[in-house]
Amino acid sequence: MSFATKSPWIIHYAATSCNGCDIEVLACLTPLYDVERFGIINSGNPKHADIFLVTGSVNEQNLPVIRQIYDQMLEPKVVVAIGICATSGGVFRECYNTYGGVDSAIPVDVYVPGCAARPQAIIDGVVTALGVLDAKSAAFAQSKKEAS
Ligand code: SF4
Repeated sequence: MSFATKSPWIIHYAATSCNGCDIEVLACLTPLYDVERFGIINSGNPKHADIFLVTGSVNEQNLPVIRQIYDQMLEPKVVVAIGICATSGGVFRECYNTYGGVDSAIPVDVYVPGCAARPQAIIDGVVTALGVLDAKSAAFAQSKKEAS
């Protein structure tokens, strides 16, 4: 990673999460697990965020919300699906009201399984996301250079 010049900001959305994974995400933001040591700040504004953390599965109600948050984020951006509900729909995937995991709504870059996902796994997923964001940033800068 070469994140010396930019601190990545995250935005967090709970889809149909039971809140188990959300509690672990919030634990990562506290001084106990402290993802701020990687320069990561939680933002409430999609336009400020680089990394989109989603918990829970996708259904009719939250699909447009997930897509809207994703569309409001500027490129380059990375999506992390946290918990087995977000990665595949989990035990709810066959339910009449469930489309599946987050990738049934938007592209997902990093999958963090678990029920609930452990803070260590979430941090590992976010650090992996930083690498993906780094690569996307380089590709984005190159495409802008070639276009000018
Ligand atoms: S993966 Fe488990 S803890 Fe996380 S939202 Fe689904 S049911 Fe809850």
